[in-house]
Amino acid sequence: MSAPHDVVIIGSGFGGIGLAIRLVQEGFGDIAVLEKADDLGGTWRDNTYPGAACDIPSLLYSFSFEPKTDWSRRFPPQAEILDYLRACARKHGIMPLIRFGTEVTEARFDEDAGLWHIDTGRGDTLSARVLVSACGQLNRPVVPPIPGQDAFTGTSFHSARWDHDAELDGRRVAIIGTGASAVQIVPEVARRAGHLTVFQRSAPYVIDKPDRPYRAWERALLRTVPGLYALGRARVYAVYEARALGFIRYPAMMKLIVRRWRTHMHRQIPDPGLRRRLVPDYPAGCKRILISDDYYPALTRPNVDLVTERIERITPDGVRTADGREHPADVIVYATGFATSGFVAPMKITGRDGRELNEEWREGALAHLGMTVHGFPNFFLLYGPYTNLGHNSIIYMLESQFRYVLGCVRRLREENLAWLEVRSDVQDAFGREMDARLRATVWDSGCTSWYMTENGKVVNNWPGFTFAYRRATRRPDPAHFHARRAAGG
Ligand code: NAP
Repeated sequence: MSAPHDVVIIGSGFGGIGLAIRLVQEGFGDIAVLEKADDLGGTWRDNTYPGAACDIPSLLYSFSFEPKTDWSRRFPPQAEILDYLRACARKHGIMPLIRFGTEVTEARFDEDAGLWHIDTGRGDTLSARVLVSACGQLNRPVVPPIPGQDAFTGTSFHSARWDHDAELDGRRVAIIGTGASAVQIVPEVARRAGHLTVFQRSAPYVIDKPDRPYRAWERALLRTVPGLYALGRARVYAVYEARALGFIRYPAMMKLIVRRWRTHMHRQIPDPGLRRRLVPDYPAGCKRILISDDYYPALTRPNVDLVTERIERITPDGVRTADGREHPADVIVYATGFATSGFVAPMKITGRDGRELNEEWREGALAHLGMTVHGFPNFFLLYGPYTNLGHNSIIYMLESQFRYVLGCVRRLREENLAWLEVRSDVQDAFGREMDARLRATVWDSGCTSWYMTENGKVVNNWPGFTFAYRRATRRPDPAHFHARRAAGG
């Protein structure tokens, strides 16, 4: 086994790369970033489907310490986001720290040595003083087990594993799901397919998307006028932050969204029969609110069918619904989402006294401030439980977390500590507070979504303002942790 690293980070998406940059800036050079794939980028590497873009404005979708003024559009396309992240990693010297093709299978905390031992799928073991899981919440695609899938004779794949060799032009395509991924895919595929069938289980709220290309002079101004970029970013942040009120405090404010959705839908869907089938049966905001100007128009095309009957099985030639109808397809796209409540699964993370994290989290994941878990010293999560948003940029949340994790890593060094472990009472109080506050939010208002466990407990979302999260994570409170001194320290 090689000498222990200061920090090992699992995952090279926005969380992993951003933390690595901040650690290097703070003088922690001995870092390894373990990445199971052959490229960095996390969700922005995985989701290459046609139309992939972010639904948070470009101005917010960059690290505050690495501004980007030359986005092509108001909402950033996937390829530009990925290029940006690669450029950040290159500029800050992170590339040599990343070990690609290295999947972590298991990690164990060695209490005596104060070290994490990390096994990889390559058969080697690394050790580190601090282990950070930066795997995110949306990295494990789910294809629902619909009977008959194996017998399908065409091509099928998940939206996050897009098969770019699959021929779509003129073919019969089925898309299962109508979430954030599907509403971006449907318009693109509708233009190319001979026939497209969209299988909708729940109708989403889709509102207008104020997107357009940036003009050359706008980009020039953003680049050259001092303070303009920061001002623009602050303005968009404030506008988006205000939307939290509807999600977390005043669900009645969602009426504004419903009105905006209805106007948008009525403007774009003239057929009353189709309109009726596009009316969601749950409160707005309970699932993610989607933005698109071309989703509804795509559904009105003559080569597109919206099917709302339950899917009964996949047949060799397509999809059969509960009304007995066969919907022939050459290609099936599963835009069916991700396994989101595991957070670290399928990795096995074993802390003190043989505690296994997936076991501890059987009833729902819990980490103090979404980052640190009792029984798992010197282990941190980025974008962990209770830190997803419905209203603003996750990069802002991640930057709050970088600061907090850095605070802990710095303390370990400065006070010569073997480890820091969050107190169980502190963690439990945080969990109780989250549960109580989440019960008052729109996410707990009677729908199913990827924000909740199978038992209906919302564990993914932060029930507050992002600036409140930043305040809560400003610096790790020493009173919240048990600290073990290093031998001889
Ligand atoms: P998702 O929101 O979980 O949507 C999955 C869709 O598949 C839902 O419509 C779901 O229906 C449907 N579905 C699942 N199982 C099914 C089954 N057995 N039969 C029929 N339909 C089934 O997944 P996603 O669209 O990939 O989006 C996930 C998250 O990724 C988003 O909420 C967002 O946070 C992120 N994302 C963001 C962007 C962006 O622009 N920033 C783009 C894409 C994704 P039900 O609703 O009935 O369960």
